[in-house]
Amino acid sequence: MSFERLAELLFPDVERDAEYYERLYPPRKLPEGAKVTRLAPSPTGFIHLGNLYGALTDERLAHQSGGVFFLRIEDTDAKREVPNGTELIRSSLRSFGLNFDEGALEGGDRGDYGPYRQRQRAQIYHTFAKKLVLEGKAYPCFCSEEELAEMRAEQEREKVNFGYYGKWAKYRDLPAEEAECRIRAGQPYVLRFRSEGDPSHYLHLTDQIRGKIDMPENDQDFVLLKSDGIPTYHFAHVVDDHLMRVTHVVRGEEWLATWPIHVQLFAALGWKCPKYCHTAHLMKAEGSGKRKLSKRKDPELALSFYREDGYPAESVREYLMTLLNSNFEEWRLANPAADIDGFRFALSKMGISGALFDLDKLRDVSKNVVAAMPAQQVYDAVAEWAKEYDRPFYDLLTADPAYALRVLSIGRGGKKPRKDIALWSDVKPYMSLFYDELFTREEPMPQGFDASLVKKALSLFCETYDEHDTQEQWFAKVKAVASALGFAPEVKQYKQSPESYPGHVGDVSMFLRIALTGRSSSPDMYEIMQILGRERTLARLNGCPV
Ligand code: GLU
Repeated sequence: MSFERLAELLFPDVERDAEYYERLYPPRKLPEGAKVTRLAPSPTGFIHLGNLYGALTDERLAHQSGGVFFLRIEDTDAKREVPNGTELIRSSLRSFGLNFDEGALEGGDRGDYGPYRQRQRAQIYHTFAKKLVLEGKAYPCFCSEEELAEMRAEQEREKVNFGYYGKWAKYRDLPAEEAECRIRAGQPYVLRFRSEGDPSHYLHLTDQIRGKIDMPENDQDFVLLKSDGIPTYHFAHVVDDHLMRVTHVVRGEEWLATWPIHVQLFAALGWKCPKYCHTAHLMKAEGSGKRKLSKRKDPELALSFYREDGYPAESVREYLMTLLNSNFEEWRLANPAADIDGFRFALSKMGISGALFDLDKLRDVSKNVVAAMPAQQVYDAVAEWAKEYDRPFYDLLTADPAYALRVLSIGRGGKKPRKDIALWSDVKPYMSLFYDELFTREEPMPQGFDASLVKKALSLFCETYDEHDTQEQWFAKVKAVASALGFAPEVKQYKQSPESYPGHVGDVSMFLRIALTGRSSSPDMYEIMQILGRERTLARLNGCPV
């Protein structure tokens, strides 16, 4: 029996040929040097930091070069799929400011290179599988699970490499007539690639991140189509990335080991390989070493973690960029106010050993990022976050947006902006002193002062307080209270002879601060009083238990 007959028998439903698809998906008309990249996640309901890390790389490569960044859904494993898996991927990436130009988007596919969901591409995979059978490059294998297990046990005894290759490739040379009989009898089979690779020969590959890598040729007759006709990752990757005209494949380093398989498949199909960029794993410090971030042990691996706790998307991007490109921090120092997209992202600046991910560093970065935002931007982001994750706070905040904005404006702008907020979930405790509904007294008055003296300081201040005072006049009054009670009006003065005073003006300020805010550290007290207004200011000062 000829390959042709076998191919017809295996793929009776295939109506098109390879040329049809080559014409349907012509090379893209893009400017010289434009890169085409894709994110190709599986809709398993778990989208993680590694996906975002790769997606940022994809997005920058494409958009920085005037190219295309698209979303392909790898849904070939129906068992692992969850109902809203695809929507979760899209909304997560959108919330981090990543936008696709085409692909499996809301409301259906967008773009000329679809379908972008692998399950809808069965005809395409089968067309190219048929081509490989026709050319004698693929064949059906009827091995049962038991046979494969037996083979593995035998290989273990013989201490040889595991797998389906050489003399172990039992069905590689099965006469076509026999294959036909088995198929007609309804025996299940997978379609395997007929490898001509020789592992004593080396492939000289160039990874765009790792540079030159030599790897042995593949000799395994790996599976192209599973027994249900669904393609393996290897086959789908090669067919899709060719037909979708991807120029740069960005994927995790876990795919490095099977790269020779992909090189071999591209060659067998007569196609040019895209450029490969294998990114390093994200690591976490543990003891004196580091380990891969793990789904089981590290909640911070899931992107949902950042949304729920309210990590600003800008901060996560900013921090990931410091991990992605070794010169980013230097650029940021020189361009503190520049848009992050102004940075020239480069594959050559990516590390090859695992990048150390550290939540504390992310929070530090975030404080700077939030400090540089205008109050309105902070307000909008907090409101959006609270709407989903803290409804009572959302209601409070949005009941009087102008008031919230005044609070958020304190200490913003200028040379040394305040850095109180790292996460949107920090905003409520930070703002609580401005809302009577949330206000609590967190710290007691400092020790070592006579209670009657403290009380006196508060009441003296209340007597003279005038909300129309300028900041200078206001402070002069604080000093006057200090003097009236025998406190040193200057700290310097106090230090010269501490025994002559019960304390200094700073102590009096502290009495006021604790009474007003319930905390020993707060934003500027004059501004707080302005925002709270006369009545509430006096109520706080008078109502403070001493
Ligand atoms: N679905 C694969 C994954 O999530 C895609 C890998 C690739 O980008 O080629 O790992």
